[in-house]
Amino acid sequence: MSDAAPDRSPDPVRDPWRGPMRAALAEAASAPGTGDVPVGAVVLGPDGSVIGRGRNEREATGDPTGHAEVLAIREAARAVGEWRLTGCTLVVTLEPCTMCAGAIVLSRVDRVVYGAVDEKAGAAGSLFDVLRDRRLNHRPEVVHGVLAEECAALLTDFFRTR
Ligand SMILES: [Zn+2]
Repeated sequence: MSDAAPDRSPDPVRDPWRGPMRAALAEAASAPGTGDVPVGAVVLGPDGSVIGRGRNEREATGDPTGHAEVLAIREAARAVGEWRLTGCTLVVTLEPCTMCAGAIVLSRVDRVVYGAVDEKAGAAGSLFDVLRDRRLNHRPEVVHGVLAEECAALLTDFFRTR
């Protein structure tokens, strides 16, 4: 994996988010045997501490909206005590879908950090770019490709064993 390559040069944009991405990866990997696709997310408060966690629970709960990002945003909003997550950062292992990108815009998080690209359904630059659409009134900063290989490998392994 390029992540472990000895010649990996410092990346000032992505390196600071590797720790939080490992927390999101831990969420993704902690899925019980429900058959849920392993996607995990955390929301960091303005001070960098984790205030919300989520993993894909669509199969576990039978909820079509039970995506990691939505669940992490809900938990963070409960922790903050209001719907505005100003100053917060959402970190997720896979590029958000259209629903989650919509929830992210509505939550007013300052920043979205994601790992693997979702070429088929991603709404943060792949299929759509909801997060940076100038027609919307809130556009978070987007950092992509953080621990991308590890995030993608978790999914590849999951689908290989299906
Ligand atoms: Zn989603």
